[in-house]
Amino acid sequence: MKIMVAIKRVVDYAVKIRVKPDKSGVETQNVKMSMNPFCEIALEEALRIKESGLASEVVAVSMGPPQCVDTIRTGLAMGADRGIHVEYPDALYPLSVAKLLKALVEVEKPGLLILGKQAIDDDCNQTGQMLAGLLRWPQGTFASKVIMDKEKQAATVDREVDGGIETLSLDLPAVITTDLRLNQPRYATLPNIMKAKSKVVKKYTPQDLNVEIKADLEVVQVTEPPKRKVGVVLSSVDELIDKLKNEARVI
Ligand code: AMP
Repeated sequence: MKIMVAIKRVVDYAVKIRVKPDKSGVETQNVKMSMNPFCEIALEEALRIKESGLASEVVAVSMGPPQCVDTIRTGLAMGADRGIHVEYPDALYPLSVAKLLKALVEVEKPGLLILGKQAIDDDCNQTGQMLAGLLRWPQGTFASKVIMDKEKQAATVDREVDGGIETLSLDLPAVITTDLRLNQPRYATLPNIMKAKSKVVKKYTPQDLNVEIKADLEVVQVTEPPKRKVGVVLSSVDELIDKLKNEARVI
């Protein structure tokens, strides 16, 4: 079985986000970019499934500008066997990504697709669900545990829901999206970083995949959260209670 993993290049989680002066989005020029953390978890899970002998190949896919190849190389250094880059100069919305992934599924025929539950840049949390809908495949979203059953050709997925853990059994092929607690992604070792340089990254354009990219929504504006007021240091619990009672009027 082949596993395809979608990995997105996003602003690094440790970077303090700045909104562009024209409010059209967040600043990405001269900003450190990395693999979306949920995608690292997705890739780690795929590698663990392969290492347990239940998959034969892990293919890492990223879509967007040429720099996405750096993200793919990181994925190859973690252990993915091959990469696919769908080159597109602008930001892609989840429906476009889902359509492109569907087209790649028709070419690659994977038995399992693993995505992050959301990309931390725009927090859409839509691509996996849309992709499963387009493919008409079962989906296990926000997976906190995945167990593969080779005989039954199924995957058991635990999902953390409000009241506890929901366990689903999905017939393969299926789409899984990963939550934070699923695993701890590995670091790429130096020998693997060197090896990754010679692994194959195939390039496609949306036209090659017969997918028309059209934005069916428009980002009207992006604004920073309101600045927090400066706090005050109180000298006693009594003073705090007094303020909560008489100023904030919450007790
Ligand atoms: P989103 O729906 O945008 O929050 O993204 C959810 C997941 O979809 C991400 O964690 C990735 O696995 C995948 N994804 C979204 N955009 C891309 C992209 N441009 N390239 C590769 N994977 C993507």
